[in-house]
Amino acid sequence: MTSPAETGAAERDVVVVGCGPAGCAAAVFAARDGLDVAVFDRGRSSLARCAHLENYPGFPAGIDVGTLSDLMRAQAERAGCAVVDDLVESVERLGDSDADEPPFEVTLQEGEPVAARRVIAATRYDGEYLRGLDDDDAMFEVHDHAGETHEHFDREYADRDGTTPVDGLYVASPSDADRQAVTAAGRGARVGKRVVADARIDDGWWPEAAEGVDWVRREAELDGEWADRDRWVEWFDAEHADGPVDPDSARFARVREAAVDDALASYVDADEEAARTAAGHRALAERLDPDAVVDAHGPDALLGAMDDEAVAAYAADGGPDAPQADGGTR
Ligand SMILES: Cc1cc2nc3c(=O)[nH]c(=O)nc-3n(C[C@H](O)[C@H](O)[C@H](O)COP(=O)(O)OP(=O)(O)OC[C@H]3O[C@@H](n4cnc5c(N)ncnc54)[C@H](O)[C@@H]3O)c2cc1C
Repeated sequence: MTSPAETGAAERDVVVVGCGPAGCAAAVFAARDGLDVAVFDRGRSSLARCAHLENYPGFPAGIDVGTLSDLMRAQAERAGCAVVDDLVESVERLGDSDADEPPFEVTLQEGEPVAARRVIAATRYDGEYLRGLDDDDAMFEVHDHAGETHEHFDREYADRDGTTPVDGLYVASPSDADRQAVTAAGRGARVGKRVVADARIDDGWWPEAAEGVDWVRREAELDGEWADRDRWVEWFDAEHADGPVDPDSARFARVREAAVDDALASYVDADEEAARTAAGHRALAERLDPDAVVDAHGPDALLGAMDDEAVAAYAADGGPDAPQADGGTR
């Protein structure tokens, strides 16, 4: 069998198949930890069949699935993923590739094949593209319905953290969590965290050190001794003194350095918090219907928020070519 280097396939740390709630969550967790993630999204979608999603947290009057899908893709992109509109046709494991090469080759409907170190399946309806990675009996289940025999991907094939008997293959969906959007997203997050921990373990971390949280914290909470890096080093040493790796080894020092960097990088100051708040509001506003925004806030509030010169110029010119506050045109 040819290796990805021989086929010229682009290489990714992680390929996620599907950008529904499960795939988006998995991709965001993996990319936020610095993994190079590509998400392919096309084909049959459960979410697209939902008329209006009213039980997903954070949307008081529900959310239409078109807007939610746009938001999820945008979130994955902002986290650093390449989100590509393409269908995964098959995933093959290149059995004899050496350890330094990604073991999977992902074949797409349109694009060039992609080599991946890890693959996360997140496609509620479809597991066909995984056929051949393991025995059919293990991956698929057959049942009779109305006198006909049907074969489906086995929702219990993967463990709850998405790991499977195939090293490097994870399944976020189909799973026993895929019947509601929020539980599918939760499963995706859990699988994304597992992938992050496994990538760290490959990089020399040990399991207890590799499991972490993806939190963003206020610098104001970094009080007293914890503002000092040495205190974190001390904490790490105490936590892992009896762990599997010699505390005097170079490996221990390297992982400690990375873990402390990681912890300290999770703190943001008040200016950064304000900047992220503004960026978050803007990303939401970009996807809202302008009429709904006017309806919700009233014209006075919106005119008050606008640059006076832009409003005057718009009134004077009375049209879409009036200059905007940023110097562009409408
Ligand atoms: C009619 C209906 C109404 C529903 N209403 C609700 C509701 O009100 N509330 C609720 O919580 N849940 C509802 N659900 C369930 C909800 O849609 C699912 O729980 C949720 O969408 C599962 O998320 P997922 O990410 O696992 O899969 P999906 O939402 O199916 O996302 C999978 C993604 O993968 C892509 N994909 C598929 N195959 C491939 C491939 N080979 N290559 C690349 N991409 C691929 C698809 O295009 C899709 O974007 C409803 C489902 C249906 C059918």
